[in-house]
Amino acid sequence: MKLRIENLLSFDTPIQNISRISPAYQKRLARLGIITLRDLFYHFPRRYEDFSNIKNISDLKLGETATVQGKIAQIKTVRTWKKRLVITEAHVQDSTGVIKVVWFNQPYLSDTLKTGNHLSISGKINFNKGLYFSNPSYEKVDKKFEQKTAQLRHTGRLVPIYPETAGLSSRYLRYIIQLCSEALKGFPDWLPESVKKNQRLIDLKAALKNIHFPLSTALLQKAKQRLAFDEIFLIQLFSLNQKINWSKQKAQAIEFDESLAKKFVSALPFRLTDAQRRASWEILLDMKKTQPMNRLLQGDVGSGKTAVAAMAALETIKAGWQVALMAPTEILAQQHFANISKTLARFKIKIGLLTAGNCKTNSGNITKNELLKKIKRNEVDLIVGTHSLIQKKVIFNKLVLAVVDEQHRFGVSQRAALQKEIASLNDGLAGKTPHLLSMTATPIPRSLALALYGDLEISVLDEMPEGRQSVITKIIPPASRQKAYEFLHQEIKSGRQIFVICPRIEIPEEKNLSKEGQLKIISQAEIRAVKKEYENLSKNIFPEFSVAMLHGKLKAAQKEKIMADFSSGQSDILVSTSVIEVGIDIPNATVMVIEGAERFGLAQLHQFRGRVGRGQYQSYCLLFTEDPSRQTSARLKAIMEAKNGFELAEKDLALRGPGDFLGTRQWGFPDLTMASLTDIILIKACRNEAAALLQQDPTLQSHPLVKKELAKFKATAHFE
Ligand code: ADP
Ligand code: MG
Repeated sequence: MKLRIENLLSFDTPIQNISRISPAYQKRLARLGIITLRDLFYHFPRRYEDFSNIKNISDLKLGETATVQGKIAQIKTVRTWKKRLVITEAHVQDSTGVIKVVWFNQPYLSDTLKTGNHLSISGKINFNKGLYFSNPSYEKVDKKFEQKTAQLRHTGRLVPIYPETAGLSSRYLRYIIQLCSEALKGFPDWLPESVKKNQRLIDLKAALKNIHFPLSTALLQKAKQRLAFDEIFLIQLFSLNQKINWSKQKAQAIEFDESLAKKFVSALPFRLTDAQRRASWEILLDMKKTQPMNRLLQGDVGSGKTAVAAMAALETIKAGWQVALMAPTEILAQQHFANISKTLARFKIKIGLLTAGNCKTNSGNITKNELLKKIKRNEVDLIVGTHSLIQKKVIFNKLVLAVVDEQHRFGVSQRAALQKEIASLNDGLAGKTPHLLSMTATPIPRSLALALYGDLEISVLDEMPEGRQSVITKIIPPASRQKAYEFLHQEIKSGRQIFVICPRIEIPEEKNLSKEGQLKIISQAEIRAVKKEYENLSKNIFPEFSVAMLHGKLKAAQKEKIMADFSSGQSDILVSTSVIEVGIDIPNATVMVIEGAERFGLAQLHQFRGRVGRGQYQSYCLLFTEDPSRQTSARLKAIMEAKNGFELAEKDLALRGPGDFLGTRQWGFPDLTMASLTDIILIKACRNEAAALLQQDPTLQSHPLVKKELAKFKATAHFE
């Protein structure tokens, strides 16, 4: 079973080069995202079957899971044509007795297993006129019956069970992983010895071997520990590195004009909360420095982050500079443009909107080229837009402040790219980096903020504006659906509007696709769901009302029209995918209906709920659920009781666990398989080690392997 070319292999070797893996299997592996040996070794088992209970045949007991090793005394295959069953039946014998073994529908067994072969067999012991194994795991072993655990693969030990896809069984994965793990011997461990020693971590080779084929539960634990450390350690190195790079940049200092701030505050139609004042103050102090600000403004939905950003923008603009405000969606960019134009109306500021599908200024429509020219000539003060803002063609002249709204939507490395991009945006301010203000309405649990945003300063809006009505939240089981529809009917009759969010689509585990594949299928399925619900509501339930639908695949202009129509009250019901989640502000909408509420994370439900209760009317959030289980209602009850989004986010993380791909994606977090984001001790340890390493060797010059690993991490930690 040795790989001849083992000396030539590395983590980066494509599995294509492993001749034992046939092209057909290479394709199937690729579907799981397994392209290189690294991918293969990092394809971790989902769980383990404990077959380590090795027994003599005469000692076997009904119901136990056990392993025996013996010789095939006889074997035959029977076909029952009627039921279309193939039954392979063998008698296996050791020095203490004989046991019957039965396999169903594995016709190839009669080719591989012959009388006289020595077998190791693991499984549960059944009874039918005597004890027998039914469909056990098996493998051929040495004659001597002294196979060491380390050499076993499918029996007699902790056996890995992998997330599977059609045509790729755990049995096959075990085979190739064990085959390839011969090569691990020659692979270097990138983690510095000193770190391993401090943290009592095992070697990478040992960790990877034991995560697939654990020699004991203790070693499995050690392997998990090591691999979890690696995950968080890289994140920490990454964010500290960002911080160091950022702090080397120079920025334009903005003197704080107090009388201007006072004018701004008195022009607002409301009184700023203390939290808003505090955050504004922190931001203005940051911007007085000649080092670029890198601050995250965290605040629950509706806590009023926009006003804080607007004040910073105004100060910057009145000092003679430009400001960019970037939002993750077209809809949100539109809305910011409209609102800020209103908020800053009396300050005579030139505001532009630039998205993929839309260009205008607050003094009228304009072509994209015209707008680009104006931006370059510093004839626009504030530019609102989407990703389009950081395209190469946009050249700013005096950009001193960049604001990124809903920044968690951008993902870790997008954020890094963004910073790099932002650092290089200016034509007229050579060598200077704009101050960066990131904002997020998704409350991020403390542990997560520590893990992910270690490179940022943080301001928190922990106080809601006065007089906010609380949204009445109700769980609606299937039996109450009709009544709920009647209620919606009344609300619309009295002039209100309604959001309907379609359920999140989940992909069953058997369809274990690559991330890109998953996202594609999910988005297609979500669009189908929206269309179906739209049909149902507009034709069957509310034919007398105007129903509109919104999803990610619509063109920018279509989306804008749909939002504008809803905003001006021309449509009564807006059916949507979760694109609505981010930032939408429509005070006349009073009911948020969420179909399949159990499928969303708590923090996300909270976000949806924040879309209503923004005006003078009592508002409602109806959580439609098809799943009446106790666990579901416990989760949904949490959202009814939670005081704020932060509390919910903590609960969410604890309830769903960090392994939830879609859940963590919501925070723009890299996929974690081993580490837990709630493990603050681990996070702190990783942070300390990363800081120590960078302090001693800021460019990682003497740690080329760490540098390479970090580059890999950056390349793979992308989202959306
Ligand atoms: P978010 O933090 O979710 O982005 P917004 O900035 O969109 O919140 O603010 C939500 C709504 O609350 C807006 O209509 C805004 O005008 C209003 N608002 C902001 N600050 C206050 C305040 N201090 N008092 C009353 N209303 C406010
Ligand atoms: Mg907002």
